[in-house]
Amino acid sequence: MSDCIFCKIIEGKIPCKKVYEDGDMLAFHDINPQAPVHFMIVPKKHVDSLARAGEPDAPVLGRMLAVAARLAREQGSPDGFRTIVNTGRIGRQDVYHLHIHILGGPDPLPRMIARE
Ligand code: AMP
Ligand code: ZN
Repeated sequence: MSDCIFCKIIEGKIPCKKVYEDGDMLAFHDINPQAPVHFMIVPKKHVDSLARAGEPDAPVLGRMLAVAARLAREQGSPDGFRTIVNTGRIGRQDVYHLHIHILGGPDPLPRMIARE
């Protein structure tokens, strides 16, 4: 999608700090990290959000989750991590290209979500 920032990152038109890439997905560091380790995994195919994903997207979504643990370990989260998929208006999604946030670090994260 031409006006999608993550598509532009995938196409190499906008730089990123790459964590991992294969034919289906790209992982890169969040520009505004919320934890000592904070990167996201995005499918190369543009899908607006998890609310718009369909069963044909399941194999790639499954692979994105399957590589998360290894990438988190490699990035400095040795013993677990948190996945977040903000979805749609209710989920406060900002970038409408499906992405899985991976958050972690050497120490346990704060518990879940703070209220504003
Ligand atoms: P959300 O859609 O709410 O799950 O969040 C989108 C995330 O994308 C935010 O955490 C932003 O910091 C991050 N972000 C926005 N632009 C960039 C970029 N150019 N490179 C890396 N991360 C970005
Ligand atoms: Zn996109």
